[in-house]
Amino acid sequence: MPSSTVENYLKAIWSLQEQGEKGGLVPIGQVAEKLSVTPGTATTMMNQLEKKGLVDYTPRRGVRLNETGRKLAMKVLRRHRLVETFLVKIMKLDWAEVHEDAEVLEHVISDRLLVRMDEMLHHPTHDPHGSPIPGSDGRLEQDGTAVLADCPPGRYTLKRVREDQPTFLQWLSGLELVPGTHFTLSEKNLEAGTLSLGLPGRSELIQISLPASRSLLVVKVS
Ligand SMILES: [Zn+2]
Repeated sequence: MPSSTVENYLKAIWSLQEQGEKGGLVPIGQVAEKLSVTPGTATTMMNQLEKKGLVDYTPRRGVRLNETGRKLAMKVLRRHRLVETFLVKIMKLDWAEVHEDAEVLEHVISDRLLVRMDEMLHHPTHDPHGSPIPGSDGRLEQDGTAVLADCPPGRYTLKRVREDQPTFLQWLSGLELVPGTHFTLSEKNLEAGTLSLGLPGRSELIQISLPASRSLLVVKVS
């Protein structure tokens, strides 16, 4: 059984790989920053992960999960996303407040419990934040979403929120901008670093910051 530390490193490397360029190496500095550890600590861990046969690590260049590491990362991600779904759908907790608990529970619940949770939820494909849940075979659906910050003005559906901060999620809830919402990106003001959105039921445009719009994954309304 890998330790929760190992699992957290694999998850962090996976998410940085996802956000970086395809097939590229993730710099160790980024891993350290994501996990709030020193670069020295992260480097020591990279050597251990490589010894365990989970990553390809090139000193001073970066790290990448190998197939074994990726499968393990998907296992943890599946647990995390199923737990979040369970906490919201069955335990009726707010979507803004389940991430921290899922961070703990993902490492400790048994496979037997996970199977039961999956059954009780009727095998969900997405978590409350709209993120796809990896299958038990480790496969992860590519959802074809784009980052709102990179999109031209137009009509979009919010598919997924790639941010776990409760305050940010509560702010989105207050705007009723949640996965499934259709909205209009009216204007991008790159100088000011803001985007203007037309939301359902609101006559006035609302402004969101460019960094916030990087957490919103959308598809174009056809
Ligand atoms: Zn989460």
